[in-house]
Amino acid sequence: MSIRDNIARINNLKEDAALRSGRKAGDVLLIAVTKLHSAEEINEAIDAGITDIGENKVQEILDKYDRVKPVRWHLIGHLQTNKVKYIIDKVDLIHSVDSMKLAQEIEKRAGNADKTMDILVQVNSAEEESKFGVGVCEAEALIADIKENCPHINIKGLMCIAPLEEDPENARPFFRAVKEIFDRHKDFTTLSMGMSNDFEVAIEEGSTAIRVGTAIFGNRDYRSEEK
Ligand SMILES: *Cc1c(COP(=O)(O)O)cnc(C)c1O
Repeated sequence: MSIRDNIARINNLKEDAALRSGRKAGDVLLIAVTKLHSAEEINEAIDAGITDIGENKVQEILDKYDRVKPVRWHLIGHLQTNKVKYIIDKVDLIHSVDSMKLAQEIEKRAGNADKTMDILVQVNSAEEESKFGVGVCEAEALIADIKENCPHINIKGLMCIAPLEEDPENARPFFRAVKEIFDRHKDFTTLSMGMSNDFEVAIEEGSTAIRVGTAIFGNRDYRSEEK
C-alpha cells in the first residue's frame, strides 16, 4: 500500500467513526505523525492531501523544516524547557504542555517573539508512570494557572495518549475521562486523541484531531535514530 492509499483508507475510517459520533469527517483533523520518516516521505503525504504533521522531537523538526513543503507543524512529544526557543517560531500547536515550568518558558519565548502560542494540555488519564502529562485531578489547576499567568499562550484544548492496548476498546474509558474535562471548557476547540491502533474509538469518544503514524507510513526504523 502506498502512502496515498493509506491516507485514503484512514480518511474513510475517520469519516465512518465521525458519523457514528454524530459528526462529519471534516470535524476531525488527521495529523500525520512523521517521526523517523524522511522529508521525501512527508512531501509524498502532503501531495496526497495531508495539511498537518506531528513530530515528537525538536531536533527532527529542525532537521526537516526547510525540506518539507508548506504544512502545519505540531509538536506532539515531550518538550524540554531549554528547547522551546528553537521551535517557538516553527510549530503551530504544542500538544504536550504538562507543567507550569514549561508553560512559563513558552510564555517568555512567545512574548519575545511577539506572538501568541497555541497549546494543548496533555492529560495522562491512565496515570501511567511511564508517560508525561498531568493527571485528571491536576488538569484544571494547570489550565487555570496558565490562563491567569500566560497572556501569550492560548489553550486550544487537551491531548491524551491512551495506554497501548491490544484491544482498542480498553482505551475508551481513558479517552472519555479527558473528554469530560474538555466539555467543561466551552472555549476549547481541539481534543487530540487517537493513534494508529485506537483512532476510531477516540473519534467515537469525541476526538477532534487524530495523530496517525504507522498506519500511514508503515513501521518506524528506530535503529536510524542512532545516526
Ligand atoms: C508516535 C506518536 C503517535 C503516532 O503513533 P502511531 O502508533 O505510529 O500512529 C501519536 N502520538 C504521539 C504523541 C506519538 O509520539
